[in-house]
Amino acid sequence: MPPTLTILAIGDELTCGERVDTNSAWIAAKAAARGARIAEHRTAADDRPLIADAIRELAARSDVLVVTGGLGPTLDDLTRHALGDVLGEPLVEDAATMDALRVWYAGRGRAMPDANRIQAMRPPSARCLDNPNGTAPGLHAKVGRTEVFCLPGPPREMMPMFERFVLPALRDDSGEVVRVRTVPTFGLGESTVADLLGDLMDRTRNPMVGTTASGCIVTCRIRYAGPPDGADAALADTVERVKTALGPAVLVDHDEHDDGLVLVRTVGDLLRERRQTVATVESCTGGLVGEMITRLPGSSDIFAGGLLTYSNELKSRLAGVDESLIARHGAVSREVAAAMARGGLDRCQSHHALAITGVAGPGGGSESKPVGTVWIARASRDGTLDTRQFLFRGGRDSVRLWSATTALGMLRLHLVGAAMDLLGQVEAAS
Ligand code: AMP
Ligand code: MG
Repeated sequence: MPPTLTILAIGDELTCGERVDTNSAWIAAKAAARGARIAEHRTAADDRPLIADAIRELAARSDVLVVTGGLGPTLDDLTRHALGDVLGEPLVEDAATMDALRVWYAGRGRAMPDANRIQAMRPPSARCLDNPNGTAPGLHAKVGRTEVFCLPGPPREMMPMFERFVLPALRDDSGEVVRVRTVPTFGLGESTVADLLGDLMDRTRNPMVGTTASGCIVTCRIRYAGPPDGADAALADTVERVKTALGPAVLVDHDEHDDGLVLVRTVGDLLRERRQTVATVESCTGGLVGEMITRLPGSSDIFAGGLLTYSNELKSRLAGVDESLIARHGAVSREVAAAMARGGLDRCQSHHALAITGVAGPGGGSESKPVGTVWIARASRDGTLDTRQFLFRGGRDSVRLWSATTALGMLRLHLVGAAMDLLGQVEAAS
């Protein structure tokens, strides 16, 4: 059996809703990828008896409990005290940690504040876990037969400590392995993906296929659990079936990063292989496509730059759109989108240009061009041009995100030589 994990996040800022608990989601995703079964997430306020109860209860129903937060030097940092209460052990000073704290402060030319002494305290049966990125060490203890890991709250301190100390404790002694692969897609709604996958999504199948939709991308998650022999072949076979079922909507074979940048990374890789560049001419998205592309390290190889032509005047002055086109067809039209893309090619001297003009809302809609109406154009140096109208749903943020993502999707389909038919489904997915 894979180990069962529970997660406890500590802090008033979390229980009051001032800050979102990102630690638990991150930990859960990492542990799930290792095959652990995640039974429960809990959030507790900075309250010693409450934290102690939570540790007791969660430890009783898991093999591994990860606690984050409440290890700082202030009076509201109570995790170590609560752990001592659960163990029935008064805290003692850890000599090595005290030395390390002194060295940490000396290295920064400061004397150690008295308050920080508490960070070197631990229940006698617990051990301190080294924190290379901060002053608060973590703690590891056994509560019954459960391994309890207390890690600092700041994500950049917590993450490397989780990988170093907790991941090794999530091993499975049954000889079974769990392997997960993800196949990201763009262009189809989640229910369409499910229809096309059919029996592949049967909950008793191994490998099992599930889907999740996030930020316009629908990801198929393929999970194998069983003996290590045959795991690779079974996964490869299911990945092939998924790819065949979903055709050109599949972005890449397997997304190793799963960081939300998969579409733009796919486009970036395609451009890089071809030694080509893209430019943007954006209106209602206000530079969002450029922002997405420049999230990629090394984007200067593939991104020429862009024109932010929000007003009609700048559409003409910067992108060279004929004023009479705007007067005749309106700024949100096939003709203006095409002229913006051609202007982008010309002014930015790129291989491809993407142009977006639309009504993001909430105001500005009309009967013929309701809120969500967006024209997207892709023009390339080879003389080809695609223009397409969309009606995206959701509020302003959603319309803008779908517009920017769809523009990248259009460029991708052009680069891989796929038909644009897929885009007929995009609006239904928004
Ligand atoms: P603490 O270790 O409780 O002093 O937490 C220090 C800081 O880490 C908090 O002020 C938050 O900014 C951050 N933090 C703590 N817990 C979490 C969490 N579960 N998710 C995201 N950030 C957190
Ligand atoms: Mg706190």
